Amino acid sequence: MSAQSYSQGRQDKSLLAMTIGAAFDLTVARFAEREALVVRHQALRYSWAQLAEVVDRHARALLALGLQAGDRLGIWAPNCAEWCITQFASAKIGAILVNINPAYRSSELEYALKQSGCKWLICASAFKTSDYLGMLNGLLPELAQYLPGELRSEKLPELRGVVSLAAEPPAGFLPWAELSAIAAAVTAQALRERQDSLQFDQPINIQYTSGTTGFPKGATLSHYNILNNGYMVGESLGLTEHDRLVIPVPLYHCFGMVMGNLGCLTHGSTMIYPGDAFDPLATLAAVAEEKATALYGVPTMFIAELDHPQRSAFDLSSLRTGIMAGATCPVEVMRRVINDMHMKEVQIAYGMTETSPVSLQTSADDELEVRVTTVGRTQPQLQSKVVDEAGNLVAHGQIGELCTRGYSVMIGYWGNPQATAEAIDQDGWMHTGDLAVMNEQGYVCIVGRSKDMIIRGGENIYPRELEEFFFTHPAVADVQVIGIPDQKYGEEVVAWIKFHPGHSASEEELRSWCKERIAHFKTPHYFKFVEAFPMTVTGKIQKFRMREISIEELSEAAAQRLSSNHR
Ligand code: AMP
Repeated sequence: MSAQSYSQGRQDKSLLAMTIGAAFDLTVARFAEREALVVRHQALRYSWAQLAEVVDRHARALLALGLQAGDRLGIWAPNCAEWCITQFASAKIGAILVNINPAYRSSELEYALKQSGCKWLICASAFKTSDYLGMLNGLLPELAQYLPGELRSEKLPELRGVVSLAAEPPAGFLPWAELSAIAAAVTAQALRERQDSLQFDQPINIQYTSGTTGFPKGATLSHYNILNNGYMVGESLGLTEHDRLVIPVPLYHCFGMVMGNLGCLTHGSTMIYPGDAFDPLATLAAVAEEKATALYGVPTMFIAELDHPQRSAFDLSSLRTGIMAGATCPVEVMRRVINDMHMKEVQIAYGMTETSPVSLQTSADDELEVRVTTVGRTQPQLQSKVVDEAGNLVAHGQIGELCTRGYSVMIGYWGNPQATAEAIDQDGWMHTGDLAVMNEQGYVCIVGRSKDMIIRGGENIYPRELEEFFFTHPAVADVQVIGIPDQKYGEEVVAWIKFHPGHSASEEELRSWCKERIAHFKTPHYFKFVEAFPMTVTGKIQKFRMREISIEELSEAAAQRLSSNHR
């Protein structure tokens, strides 16, 4: 047995048996005067006592809006103080927070709101190229006719109202600023009673991930899932109330809201948001000016920081630790983060939304070589295994699918028992779709993916979802989407398109068609128009061959550009 790829994390660290609201109150009581949250782009700072005051006020407001425990509350906004306040306020009243990617366009938003049955939505005004209020007005033209809280929409029958973070939102939206006044209708005692009635195994968060089946699925996570994952991640980093963590990763993803916010909450550390979205300069400035001790990021973020021409102008010597995760972490980038950014104790974490997210992590006392070349060992209180196609354990050193079991495995996909049963087997193992190798000491290397997924700059893109989307274009007869390696983003999206006879569309037309409908990061970087796809004799499309052809053609095109520039 011992030669087989199974490992168990440490058992000596107890899990936290409490709700997020209870954990929040404990931290506030212990560290009231210490800094809790710094939001640099909004020039906001809160001690834990100040944060508790706003969180409790907004929790009472959410009660006043009629949110019951188990009701869904959507949030569609880039990183901001209101995101953090809503996360903790909704946890206190037991409303399930539905994270909506700020890059979503209206069709993706409609799907998430409808599938989860959101009763209320909190939304930003505009961000980058997204005009949230405009998109919502397009989706819900009737919004202005109803008082907030009384909305009746055919498209979104469960939605009752929308809270806007805009300073002066149009008619029909409830301004965020009015929540404070609304809170007066609910007593502190009523909030206490609601909070005390909650159980830690209840669902508290839904995050959409697309999977390979085309439509996004809502990974449903409990207090216990995410509070404990944030706690264990923070324990691994050795976080304390003296640590200050810069969080440039998005809050709508587990990396921000669990590993970041809940990692800090469970250790009394300070959460620092450098900007509404990732910006290397703002991140470097946040580290230097806030004397941060820890920094998170996906590999492409660290690369952008390391390569920034002004990096040496910033004193990063306060940094001690941090996490690189979300995609394969190149060894050279890890070495540069250790040497050039002073992150001597930096760790790699591996996980997925469905497992809250982290299931494997390197640790500060691992040998350097192991720390930069593997994703570490199984996290405390969890189990990992690597299996073959028949589901049997493989020997150490053999490739197979990585599976995770334990407290971190999601409750299931919201309203989708079939997809849940396909992902979590009868024995409780979450099948990750990632290919891995485990060695005798239990260290794991991720070597590929059995699932069809592209990771572009830390954002997951599911070819199947994009293919379904392109099929809705009137000129498109068939489409295949692949990922190819890219120096800046890790991978880039390529769409091979076959038109209906007599139909066509230019690359520009397809690009602007995408721009109006789907998140910008999903829009293919390259298009290739074809009459047919490479096939096996049995008629199976050969994506690997398409990948080879695209890589070859694009490197030839790049070489030609280079030589004509030199002419
Ligand atoms: P998400 O659900 O967005 O957290 O994405 C999860 C997926 O990201 C995993 O299934 C992996 O394919 C990939 N991933 C996450 N962390 C790592 C890592 N450290 N190394 C390689 N791939 C990773």
